Amino acid sequence: MSLKVNLEKADEYLARFRSNTLPHFIGGRHDLGTSGRTLVNTTPTDGTRLGEFAAGGAGEIDAAAAAAREAFEEWKAMPGKERRALLHRVADLIVARREEIAIVESMDCGQPIRFMSKAALRGAENFRFFADRCEEARNGLSLPAEEHVNYTMRQPIGPVGVITPWNTPFMLSTWKIAPALAAGCTVVHKPAEWSPCSALLLAEIVKEAGIPDGVLNTVHGLGEEAGRALTEHPDIQAISFVGASATGSAIQAQGAATLKRLHFELGGKNPVLVFDDADLERALDAVTFMIFSLNGERCTSSSRLLVQSGIHDDFVARLSDRIARLRVGHPLDPETEIGPLIHRRHFEKVMGYFEIARAELLEVRMGGTAEKIDAKGHYVAPTLLCGATSDNRVAREEIFGPVLTTLRFDDEAEAIRIANDVDYGLAGYVWTQDVGRAHRVAQAMDAGMIWVNSENNRHLPTPFGGMKRSGIGRDGGDWSFDFYTETKNVCVALGTHSIPSLGKS
Ligand code: NAD
Repeated sequence: MSLKVNLEKADEYLARFRSNTLPHFIGGRHDLGTSGRTLVNTTPTDGTRLGEFAAGGAGEIDAAAAAAREAFEEWKAMPGKERRALLHRVADLIVARREEIAIVESMDCGQPIRFMSKAALRGAENFRFFADRCEEARNGLSLPAEEHVNYTMRQPIGPVGVITPWNTPFMLSTWKIAPALAAGCTVVHKPAEWSPCSALLLAEIVKEAGIPDGVLNTVHGLGEEAGRALTEHPDIQAISFVGASATGSAIQAQGAATLKRLHFELGGKNPVLVFDDADLERALDAVTFMIFSLNGERCTSSSRLLVQSGIHDDFVARLSDRIARLRVGHPLDPETEIGPLIHRRHFEKVMGYFEIARAELLEVRMGGTAEKIDAKGHYVAPTLLCGATSDNRVAREEIFGPVLTTLRFDDEAEAIRIANDVDYGLAGYVWTQDVGRAHRVAQAMDAGMIWVNSENNRHLPTPFGGMKRSGIGRDGGDWSFDFYTETKNVCVALGTHSIPSLGKS
């Protein structure tokens, strides 16, 4: 599949966003809602206006939840084969509009087009993967007992809420919405307010694919308003959330009164461990890629580099060389490797960590400054902070930008201790050619996903998710269906057992 995009079409794709108010999508209709409020959207490339979008609140969430509830019975009852065909149609249409999705996404969230082209196609893959599993989504187990047959089945939990962040909005929303629809749930989606555009494209595609009205609904707005209302709505049975750990805590509290089932994919401060016997050239590629791709705005980024003492200085020198060559630029430039950060507020947060690093007397080996492309935008120089220990804030807190903090270790035990010495536990990366050590370290690391001698390579049947403050639950393969369904046990007597009788004498 070609990943080339036609950049001349960018203006054409973006014009409608610049000149119209981006609507909600409720019950199959594009709708500006009843609140009458709008919010301005900006592009991180130069901070200028990329149109405005309808800002919903409790009223719009109520309408969307009602539409999702009404659509649920029909969607749930539709044979898996038919749902499968419809979801494949969604995937086909994503592929057909991949260039538009990638360009709109790049301009809306600042991620380089080289990555957003792939992310758009991954959105289609997400739909295909779960489409192919529609028919097995409700499968259960046979658990025979001596005089009874027990069997389990799964049924869709009902209308669910999906709340997504701004770092790869289209791909992440498909990762959540596709399995929900495949399981037979209906969805109310609340996209991030800093990157609302591609959710409109997904809504259009779902409509064109022939998915019944009300099966997917999209309500734009602020997290504290639309997001909160969704998590508190009594008709919404579950919330699948991707975002910051602190927001996850808030959602847990908000959802308590209505006993929401929750699935959280949260932040990370993921370690990459490079031992002195590693294939250092491959490790260097992976280390560079896993923090500087996607602007470092990536939950699985390896933002802590732990290098064994004997190779530390040499490895860091080679890494600095690579960093010096990274191309920071406009996200639509195919040569660009690092684009602008999503929003002024996030840019300031990342810049603030450079001050923290300096105050902690760390060496700012590379970067540590803003960059201007055509004198505009929220660009940050790729940054390498050296000499940290686990006590430093830049080694503990998620910065979510192109910023790598290095630490050194002497032996395996120390590497594991440092790797686990944070509140997060999403991903861990290990580089060693010693097979035994690779397994020992993988088993000892407190993280939901470990990659050995590899960067973040995704295989959709595998579980995705984190431990500690990085999340609750797993996505991927059948794990997704576990979340979007209720498991029911049916116990049938063979007619041979004796039933205790009362009140006979
Ligand atoms: P965020 O938590 O600020 O926002 C995420 C979404 O939650 C947005 O749609 C927002 O409007 C909504 N929201 C905010 N407050 C809310 C509330 N009180 N109730 C309901 N909804 C609310 O996160 P962000 O800054 O958009 O995204 C960055 C974070 O996402 C990082 O921490 C990153 O690690 C995490 N992330 C995790 C994964 C993963 O798979 N683990 C993937 C991508 C991003």
